[in-house]
Amino acid sequence: MSTPQKNVAVIGAGIMGLCTARELSQAGAHVVVYEKNTLPSKNASFMAGGMLAPYSEIEHMPPEWVQAGLNGIEYWRAILGQESAQAEFSCKGSLLIAHKEDQYVLERFKTHLSANTNCQNVSKAEVAQLEPQIAERFDNGVFLKEEAHLHPQKTMQLIIDRGAFEMRQEEAAPSALSEQYDHVIDCRGYDAEKQTPGLRGVKGEIAIVRNTEFYLERPVRLMHPRYPLYIVPRKGNIFMIGATVIEAANNEHVSVRSSLELLSALYSLHPSFGDAQILDMSAGIRPAYADNLPRITLQDNIVRCNGLFRHGYLLAPVMAQCVEHMIHNKHHDLTALLMGENHEYKNQRKSAEL
Ligand SMILES: Cc1cc2nc3c(=O)[nH]c(=O)nc-3n(C[C@H](O)[C@H](O)[C@H](O)COP(=O)(O)OP(=O)(O)OC[C@H]3O[C@@H](n4cnc5c(N)ncnc54)[C@H](O)[C@@H]3O)c2cc1C
Repeated sequence: MSTPQKNVAVIGAGIMGLCTARELSQAGAHVVVYEKNTLPSKNASFMAGGMLAPYSEIEHMPPEWVQAGLNGIEYWRAILGQESAQAEFSCKGSLLIAHKEDQYVLERFKTHLSANTNCQNVSKAEVAQLEPQIAERFDNGVFLKEEAHLHPQKTMQLIIDRGAFEMRQEEAAPSALSEQYDHVIDCRGYDAEKQTPGLRGVKGEIAIVRNTEFYLERPVRLMHPRYPLYIVPRKGNIFMIGATVIEAANNEHVSVRSSLELLSALYSLHPSFGDAQILDMSAGIRPAYADNLPRITLQDNIVRCNGLFRHGYLLAPVMAQCVEHMIHNKHHDLTALLMGENHEYKNQRKSAEL
């Protein structure tokens, strides 16, 4: 006997909501996504760098999460498949470098990498092979060859275009939809703060520039004493630099200090950035719990997926797969990690009705 089709509402069309809608609709559920803004919604997912960088985050992530992040990269490879180029998904690793005065930040980072991590200390000559245009200013680096990146906005658009789910531009409240649907998946990001104990906002600012004199094969992470700065190459000689990490959620403006830091970091990478065109400077609010790790929490038939902090693109596909497994009563190895102790999904109210 076939299982009845699930009727699911997803609230929020950020990367968490879209990955979940995609996963559930592919598994045969009828899915409606509620998004309060017109698309594309200028949410945290829209502002993101698109780094898929589990090793670079090792100072903030326990090893089991690094492994979950590597799974996230594999999911993207499978999800994007032949459309990888369209989403600018690329797996050429990332290169970590530091100016002479900040070498200690790079050295400190290396102490977190275990011997079996797939990373390589690289000399000036090897930096020159990987990224010829920056070798003049940097004497060494660390190459993390399993890391990847994608273009966030293009990736979200692809999921929407290819998705077998319905989109509604409407503000929705999880409790108001819970009678109407078998399951409600709350993916409201930082907007869910008032109903989500322990959730806070962490501001991130970015700059996007065009520099026709410069080329990068892969993202470069400039080790910086205040926060890690990525320069992510995009098509058309466009580079995204970000992101600041500021414990505040009270405004989405880019401060003068942050803009000076971002742009001077770019200029320090290569003098040609002095004449680059600034295309955009913007800020987003990352949803985060105290440990900066995401989690899935349950309340009757409401499943809340939040706290993706700096790892939204890295971990959203993994979380979405766990949600799909949970709803269809299947085992997933990572569910326990994402839910802590609370990983038995008993959808008491709705399953009794089916
Ligand atoms: C500057 C910056 C750089 C980043 N770089 C990276 C990176 O390189 N790699 C990485 O993995 N992660 C990165 N992140 C983190 C990542 O962007 C976030 O973790 C992720 O976007 C969170 O996604 P989300 O779907 O939970 O929330 P959001 O993207 O904020 O989406 C929530 C959506 O819910 C909608 N919504 C809210 N309330 C309602 C309602 N009541 N009804 C209907 N809709 C509603 C909102 O309008 C919004 O569209 C970065 C973040 C920032 C800010």
